[in-house]
Amino acid sequence: MKPQNPRRNTRQREAIRDVLLSANRPLAPQEVVGLVRSTVPSLGIATVYRTLKEYVEDGWLVPITVAGSIRYELAQMEHHHHFYCRSCDKTYSLPGCTGELSRLLPSGFVMSSHDLTINGLCPSCSEAPSG
Ligand SMILES: [Zn+2]
Ligand SMILES: [Zn+2]
Repeated sequence: MKPQNPRRNTRQREAIRDVLLSANRPLAPQEVVGLVRSTVPSLGIATVYRTLKEYVEDGWLVPITVAGSIRYELAQMEHHHHFYCRSCDKTYSLPGCTGELSRLLPSGFVMSSHDLTINGLCPSCSEAPSG
């Protein structure tokens, strides 16, 4: 049950969906605002938060916490991990898994799931100009 007319913000909702689809990585709400404003300059942060929440309720997005802040990624993804760039604050999706993490467990511990975030520098930050 959504009180507002679902068609009212169709253009903004579609623009938000498009940036999440084309980003190919998890996006923080502030990143969504920055990307969508190139096509919808009037977009407000409140609209972004509300739309992201609706997409989570719809089961299309899932919120993840990376480096202490929430990012949103597509729900229909294979098991994967994340890379967090400490320089530009972006989060990237890393496809695949080593599958060997259970080796870390002492005897008697049973793994049911795991999350893994690798921190470092993304390609554009690691090749920053020296001069
Ligand atoms: Zn970076
Ligand atoms: Zn894994």
